[in-house]
Amino acid sequence: MLKKKNEKHLTTIFGYLKKTYQYAKNSKKHLFFFLIGNILYCIINVIAPLLSARQILYLTDEFWEQLICVTLLIFGTEILRNVVMNVNNYFINKYFYAVKKNIQLDVSAKILQIQTSVLQANSSGTFIERAGNDTDTLADIFILGIDYITHLISVIGVLISILFLNVAIFFLYLLFIVLLFLAQKFAAKKIQEKNKIRKKKQDEVSGFLSELVRGAKDIKLLNAEQSFLNKADKVIQELGEANYSWTRTRSWFRFLNGNLRDLLDLGILLLGIYFITRKELEVATMLIILSYRGQIISISSSLESFYDVIKRFELAAERIFEILEGDKYPKEVFGNTQISKIEGNISFKNVSFGYEEDDMVLKNISFQIHPNETVSFVGKSGSGKSTIFNLISSLYQPNAGEITFDGIPLKQLDKTSIRKNISVISQNPYIFNMSIRENFTIIKEDLTETEMIEACKMACLHDFIMTLKNGYDTIVGEGGVTLSGGQRQRLAIARALILKTEIILFDEATSALDNETQYEIQKSIHNMQGEYTILIIAHRLSTVINSDRLILIDNGKLAGEGTHQELLKDNPIYQKLYELELKEDEKK
Ligand code: ADP
Repeated sequence: MLKKKNEKHLTTIFGYLKKTYQYAKNSKKHLFFFLIGNILYCIINVIAPLLSARQILYLTDEFWEQLICVTLLIFGTEILRNVVMNVNNYFINKYFYAVKKNIQLDVSAKILQIQTSVLQANSSGTFIERAGNDTDTLADIFILGIDYITHLISVIGVLISILFLNVAIFFLYLLFIVLLFLAQKFAAKKIQEKNKIRKKKQDEVSGFLSELVRGAKDIKLLNAEQSFLNKADKVIQELGEANYSWTRTRSWFRFLNGNLRDLLDLGILLLGIYFITRKELEVATMLIILSYRGQIISISSSLESFYDVIKRFELAAERIFEILEGDKYPKEVFGNTQISKIEGNISFKNVSFGYEEDDMVLKNISFQIHPNETVSFVGKSGSGKSTIFNLISSLYQPNAGEITFDGIPLKQLDKTSIRKNISVISQNPYIFNMSIRENFTIIKEDLTETEMIEACKMACLHDFIMTLKNGYDTIVGEGGVTLSGGQRQRLAIARALILKTEIILFDEATSALDNETQYEIQKSIHNMQGEYTILIIAHRLSTVINSDRLILIDNGKLAGEGTHQELLKDNPIYQKLYELELKEDEKK
């Protein structure tokens, strides 16, 4: 049973190593040079003490000429050792950053494929930590592996030399290595457990701090600085404790390791003195043995981290490959059918959907949208309007029924066919922390100045941009904080116009925009009407007058269709909604 578990464990590690190697393939040349350098380094390590010993022998025999020769040789060896080390550092750096980049790019690409709901359900720290720190551990693994293997070979070389010099001391060294190995195995398991907790806490802190920075404005307005700081205190404290517990376990092991080392030293000295007094060991030979001691000790510190590194690698790989593959973070699913230009026919046939299996938010909804129509979805807050948009933009899949675009089931369409044909202008669109121009060029690299200005004019944004000191080159701050809500929405409209997507989903801002802003937005939508299929979530009935048709949603069901006038005449639910809004307006 235990054997089986161990075997499975090993297959996992080898599996992870194999997968990691895929990212290192292009840099294997650097890894190879590093390996050669390391072997050279080890050979120098074995030879240097022997040379020193010769130096001592010559010293005692007073052969000055030879002594100078050997001294120069030793000096040369030291220089060579430094050169090898430096060149090796060059290769390591080249290799490390190339591999890290490959992994990080892949992780970033995969994060962008994860279903939006899954991303939202997890703290951003979960992904930030993995794309950051964990990639370092993966990129490091082959470097450390080579380091260990060459180190091990050099220690074997050293041990063989000692075997020829003195069998008893050889066995003492051997015993030391075996004890160290066993202690390491024992400690690694404990260290790994603590490391897992520590990593989780680190994710939490990263996520929390990123939220604190991004939500700083609202935190201040809510006067919630102190409670956020209290929460920060708590999560940082917990991370500190987890870190402390981890380092404490490691220090315990170091303490044990140090004591073992001291015992080794004592044993060597005692044995050395014993053999020297019995004339079974030359003083010079004893000096060689002592100078090898440093290298055996150095394997002890590298052995100390051997298991630690393997365990850390295993954990980092588990966390990264969880994102890259597997179904813990499900990716968006698309079909294979491609269409370059959707005409704009959207049909819902008996669609039901719930965010939770047992709580249907949309219940058996059917409707039809025609190309270039402007249709507003109306209904009480929470009735399911945004959910309809989520399904149209394929962020979620219906539980029952079918959605088609131009008669093709949505689930059969590939990602590009959907994304290239639909733009979503949310209530609070995310504007990237770049210049206004770059916010456009990032979605269309070959965008011309004329195209950009035309889109901004249509979105009623150009005049505002012209009032800015740096015009289109103005940096808008993270999330577009330097822009007003209305300006952000108009910028998003301009983005949609640049992409020229046939279908535009527009989620009207719930927050009351001032009349002028509202007018500008209505004007920009009006500019697009007739040329695009525009679906609007109307939070205020005052804005639906220009729509060709309204679709009324009530508690997840279709409760009516028609123009504002038609619904007002025949539909009691709509009448009630209208009355309610009139009352609200009167209150203001
Ligand atoms: P509307 O846009 O009409 O205000 P929504 O479509 O946003 O309504 O919401 C419909 C229902 O679905 C609400 O009860 C809301 O709480 C729920 N809901 C919306 N988004 C999610 C989500 N991501 N996860 C779980 N429930 C959600």
